[in-house]
Amino acid sequence: MNTVLSVQNMNVTYVNKSKRVMAVRNASFSISKGDSLGLVGESGSGKSTLAIALLGLLPKETTEITGKAIFLEDTDLLSISEKEMNELRWKKLAVVFQKAMNSLSPVHRISTVFEDIYRVHEPHATKEEIHAATVRLLKLVNLPERVYHLYPHEMSGGMLQRVAIAMSLLHSPQLLIFDEATTALDVVTQGQILKEIVQMEKELETTRIMITHDMSVVSSSCNKVAVMYAGEIVEFGYVKNVMVHPQHPYTKALLKSFPALKGEKRKMESIPGFLPDLSKEIPACVFAPRCAYATERCRAEKPLFHSREDGSGTACFLTEGGAD
Ligand code: ATP
Ligand code: SF4
Repeated sequence: MNTVLSVQNMNVTYVNKSKRVMAVRNASFSISKGDSLGLVGESGSGKSTLAIALLGLLPKETTEITGKAIFLEDTDLLSISEKEMNELRWKKLAVVFQKAMNSLSPVHRISTVFEDIYRVHEPHATKEEIHAATVRLLKLVNLPERVYHLYPHEMSGGMLQRVAIAMSLLHSPQLLIFDEATTALDVVTQGQILKEIVQMEKELETTRIMITHDMSVVSSSCNKVAVMYAGEIVEFGYVKNVMVHPQHPYTKALLKSFPALKGEKRKMESIPGFLPDLSKEIPACVFAPRCAYATERCRAEKPLFHSREDGSGTACFLTEGGAD
C-alpha cells in the first residue's frame, strides 16, 4: 500500500509566557492511499492541534513541533520552509473546518472564491477552465451548477459545507483533513454529506483524516480510527475491529458514552473525572486517574504503544500480551 502520511513520535507544545502545554505527545501512526482515518477523543485531547500542526497553520512563535519523522508522501513536513508549506496547501494537503464558509465575504459570489483558490496554483487558468473543474466537483457533492453563481448568504448550512468540501478538492490534494466539518449540521444533513464523502472518495481515491468527537461519524465514514486521550494516541486500528472489540479502557468508555450504533438500545455512561493538566509531564498512564482497571504499575509507569504488523495497537498494560 502507498503510504500517504507517516507520523513518528510527534510532539506539539504550546509555549506561553507562564507555561508549556504539551498538547500532542509522542504520536505515531501512518495512513495509506484511500484510507479514511477518524481521529477521535473528548474535547481537549489534542485532535485539532495534531491536524493544524500537520497543516503548518500553528504560529511558529508560540508553538514547538518536534518528532522523529513526519512525511506527507516523500515531503518531510518537519524540515520544509513556510514558503514550501504554502505551496503544498490546497495542492497536496487541504482542510475543511466546521462552518468553513462562515469566514467567506458576503459580497463575493462562490465563483470568485473558486477562481481565487484555483489560481493560487494555476495562475493562468481561464474562467472557463475553472468553471468546468468546479461544476464537476459540485456535482460530486450533490450540488447543482447554479450554486457557482450564488452568494454565501443565499445557501443553507448544508449547502455551504458541501461547497467547502468541493473547494478543498480543487487541486486534487493527496490528503484531506476534515476538522469537525459536519458537526454543526443537523443529523439528517450530516448523514447525507457523510454518504456523499464516502462515495466521492471511491471515485477520487482521496485519503482523509476526520477529526470528530462523535463515534457514529467515525463508524459511518472511516475505515481506520485513532483514539486520542490527553495528547496521546491510546488506540489505533480498523474501525470494524475497534467498534466491536475495543481494547483500551478509554476507547471502551468512549463507546459507552454514545448511543448504541447498532442493535439494542443501551444506557449511555459518562466518563467520570477530567483530563489531566497538559502542562505537566505524565510519567504514568495518562488515563490512570479515570480508569476502572488502574493498578499501582499504571500510576508509576507509562505503558508503551504496542503495535501489530498492520499498525493497529494500544498503549495499555492490560493488552501487553496481545488483544483480549
Ligand atoms: P476540541 O474537540 O474541543 O476541539 P481537541 O481534542 O481538538 O478539542 P485541542 O483543541 O487540540 O483539542 O487542544 C488540546 C489542548 O491544547 C487543550 O488542553 C487545549 O486547552 C490546549 N490548547 C489549545 N490551544 C492552545 C493555545 N493556543 N495555547 C495553550 N494551550 C492550548
Ligand atoms: Fe487503565 Fe492501566 Fe491500561 Fe492505563 S495502563 S488504561 S490505567 S489498565
